[in-house]
Amino acid sequence: MWIVFLGPPGAGKGTQANRLIEFLGIPHLSTGEVLRQVVRDQTAESQLVANFLDQGLLVPDELVMKVVLEILQSPKYERGVLFDGFPRTIVQAEQLDAFLRGMGKRIDVVLNLEVEESELIRRMLSRSKKEGRHDDNHATIRSRLRVFHDQTAPLIDYYDWNGLVEHIDGMRSSDEVFADIQNRIIKRQTPSQAMH
Ligand code: AMP
Repeated sequence: MWIVFLGPPGAGKGTQANRLIEFLGIPHLSTGEVLRQVVRDQTAESQLVANFLDQGLLVPDELVMKVVLEILQSPKYERGVLFDGFPRTIVQAEQLDAFLRGMGKRIDVVLNLEVEESELIRRMLSRSKKEGRHDDNHATIRSRLRVFHDQTAPLIDYYDWNGLVEHIDGMRSSDEVFADIQNRIIKRQTPSQAMH
C-alpha cells in the first residue's frame, strides 16, 4: 500500500508510523529523518539543509524531490511505502503523483492525524527534553506550526478531492489512535494488499 501520513509537527506521526509499518510490513520513509541524516553526513548540501531545519522552514522542493525519488528507486520500496512528513507542499504531492503514475501506482490512503495546537506545543517541548531535537524549541516550534498551516494543510483538500483522506482524532491514547488507524486501513485494503 502507498500511504501518506499527514498531520502537524508533534501530532505523534512518528510513533504511529513505527507501529503501522510493523503491522503492514511496508517500509517507512520519513523525510525529516532523511534530511537530518543529510546534515550529519557533512556533504556539500549539509549546511544549506541545516539552515532550513534550524529555522523550522521547509527545505526547497527541488532538493527534497531529488533525495526522495533517488531513495524510491530501491527495490525495497516496490510494494509500497508509508510516507511520513512527505509530501509537505502541493508541488511535492503533484510530483509524487506523477512518479507513481509512471509506475502504474497511486496513493491508496492519506491519514490525517488531528491534534489541538496547545497539545502539539506541549508534546514537542517534552520531546525536546527526551530526544534533544534541535528544532523542538519555542521559536522553531511556532515557525513549524505556521509552515504546516500555510504550506502543508492545503494537501488535505488536495487529497480529499480524490476521496483518499481518513481523518484521525489524535487527542486519544496512542493505543486508541492506532486501533482506529488499523481499522481505516483494513477497510481500504484491496484483497491482494490484505494478503501480504
Ligand atoms: P519532521 O521530522 O517531519 O518534523 O521534519 C523536520 C524538518 O525537516 C522540517 O521542519 C523541515 O525543515 C524538514 N522537512 C521534512 N520533510 C520535509 C519535506 N517533505 N519538505 C521540506 N522540508 C521537509
